[in-house]
Amino acid sequence: SVSVMLFTSDLRVHDQPALAAAVRDATEVVPLFVRDPGIHRAGFDAPNRRAFLADCLASLDDGLRRRGGRLVVRSGDVVDTVCRVVTGTGARSVHIAAGVSGYAAGREEALAAALAALGCALRVHDGVITALPPGRVTPANRDHFAVFTPYFRRWAAAGVRPEVTAPRRITVPEVAGEALPARAEVAGVSPGLAVGGEEEGRRRVKSWLARAGSGVDAYEERHDDLAGDATSRLSPHLHFGTLSATELVRRARDRGGAGAEAFVRQLAWRDFHHQVLAARPDAARADYRTRGDRWRDDEKEITAWREGRTGCPIVDAGMRQLRHEGWMHNRARLLTASYLAKTLYADWRTGAAHFLQLLVDGDMANNQLNWQWVAGTGTDTRPNRILNPLAQARRFDADGSYVRRWVPELASVPGPAVHDPAPADRARLGYPAPLVDLGEARDRFSRARGLGD
Ligand code: FAD
Repeated sequence: SVSVMLFTSDLRVHDQPALAAAVRDATEVVPLFVRDPGIHRAGFDAPNRRAFLADCLASLDDGLRRRGGRLVVRSGDVVDTVCRVVTGTGARSVHIAAGVSGYAAGREEALAAALAALGCALRVHDGVITALPPGRVTPANRDHFAVFTPYFRRWAAAGVRPEVTAPRRITVPEVAGEALPARAEVAGVSPGLAVGGEEEGRRRVKSWLARAGSGVDAYEERHDDLAGDATSRLSPHLHFGTLSATELVRRARDRGGAGAEAFVRQLAWRDFHHQVLAARPDAARADYRTRGDRWRDDEKEITAWREGRTGCPIVDAGMRQLRHEGWMHNRARLLTASYLAKTLYADWRTGAAHFLQLLVDGDMANNQLNWQWVAGTGTDTRPNRILNPLAQARRFDADGSYVRRWVPELASVPGPAVHDPAPADRARLGYPAPLVDLGEARDRFSRARGLGD
């Protein structure tokens, strides 16, 4: 008998419930990845993610080969391609991880219908992509939590599923596939892009959890230190599923301590946003909560923001890190997003689209809902607060090292003075004057939200 394991955002062999079920279900398994033009049409295949994905597929193929199998890659519409593989191999079941986006839901529905017509079952597995499946904990009378703190209480009490051991042996039937895509073939990749793949992800987790006094142990004190760069950088691995979120929660809890607890709480934020998107797929585009905003749309300002030339050094540093690495520190994401959505009062969708174009961890749930959180149209319980980028800079980049690292024009300005260079120094160093006056921008935003000056 034959089953098909359709990989999506779960590109691993360890702690992989869908793959384990596909192997249990049949004597032969087709481990399948479909390069779906629908992803391209939706604009999700930005170069950084395509390059990282190529690493992930190569590593997944290695992992399967070590178990006697291999990865089968095909290009084409996902439903047609899966049906062709099912017809060609006589497969009786297709296994897939439950997705949370509108796109994933549509794919599951279309697959279920098309496979039913072929007498083949679609088996959708929970607990593959998030630590806790969306909908596993809910408030009374609602399908999802709209506030993080009560969600987190229930999430923490719920516990996670036990570990699923990786299959020891995988036998793949005769089936044609294409060459694996190569990272080197992708143009327009950020020069500092991280390496992808399950092996790299597992190596990172190991060192993240083992470094005594640094890594996860120091996470609580150091996670907001912009220059210290002391977060896990596991987000792209979680996005592509080269790491299991469940396994990470389990292992961090086993490690214990205040750092591990703070880290697990961030993993719960990931689940939180996924359960919001699963219940409200429209929140990928529409305001989760409407505030009557009439966003400004000043193309010149938005371009300066995208290019890291706003004249606000901490904002420019973040935007340039994003372009160079395809990744940005969380504190920098918060303050650059706040600068766009509240200081410039530009539509959060414009900022979210730019992030998605570059972020290697760019994710519908985390990106769109964090943007909404910052813009005050999402789940923040204080939607009208506005971050002062200068105060943020002085607090989270106290000696200015982060700015000097990413804004080389300002590398000669010592200490915290780099956060607000004098006009003469800006002109001399070729660094722009501030795009807006922060005080005036704050007043404009307050008026727009009906709060008065
Ligand atoms: P760590 O601090 O080591 O945290 C561990 C993990 O917890 C992360 O890898 C991530 O999976 C999860 N996590 C941490 N913070 C958050 C959060 N606020 N929301 C959801 N999950 C979180 N994260 C993405 O994965 N993809 C995105 O597209 C994305 N876009 C964002 C856009 C904005 C405007 C903001 C403010 C945040 C965004 N985040 C996004 C959340 C967060 O910034 C990143 O997950 C984090 O910076 C990744 O770095 P890390 O792995 O070192 O995080």
